Amino acid sequence: MTAPAAIDDYIDLAQQLSPPPELAKYSPEVLATARLLIDNQKLSRSAARKLRKAVITAWTGHCAACGHFHGDVLQIHHVDPVTEFGGATMDSLLPLCPNCHAYVHALRRVRTNPERFQALKDQVERVLEGDDQAVDFLARIAQVTSTKERLMGRKVNP
Ligand SMILES: [Zn+2]
Ligand SMILES: [Zn+2]
Repeated sequence: MTAPAAIDDYIDLAQQLSPPPELAKYSPEVLATARLLIDNQKLSRSAARKLRKAVITAWTGHCAACGHFHGDVLQIHHVDPVTEFGGATMDSLLPLCPNCHAYVHALRRVRTNPERFQALKDQVERVLEGDDQAVDFLARIAQVTSTKERLMGRKVNP
């Protein structure tokens, strides 16, 4: 399954947002983290709704993993968890049905344990009736480093 063409109006919505001037006194590291959080808050309102609608429209209401039609039931998954704090674009978001979305996050939680990861992958394969392509897709987007690890790696100054 390949991603559809991005809808220009909503690309880089998050990147258009800028931090307020009162944050300028902080170090670049703190500013970067604050900006991510602020962008996320702004995005969580009307921009996030527009972005969500644009993603679902671009995929014509179909789950990006199993390919079934789910319409408004679709949930928006951040391929890179860091974009949950801002900076999300059409390319970094995927519509997933509740089942597939749950599997992505379950796979992500156990990804550091190869045995449990494989066991869960096998279970997903059974549920998706041997659709190897869908299972590989779910596993691939579950392999991204977690948000917490990424943010902790930022070495934010006090
Ligand atoms: Zn699905
Ligand atoms: Zn998700």
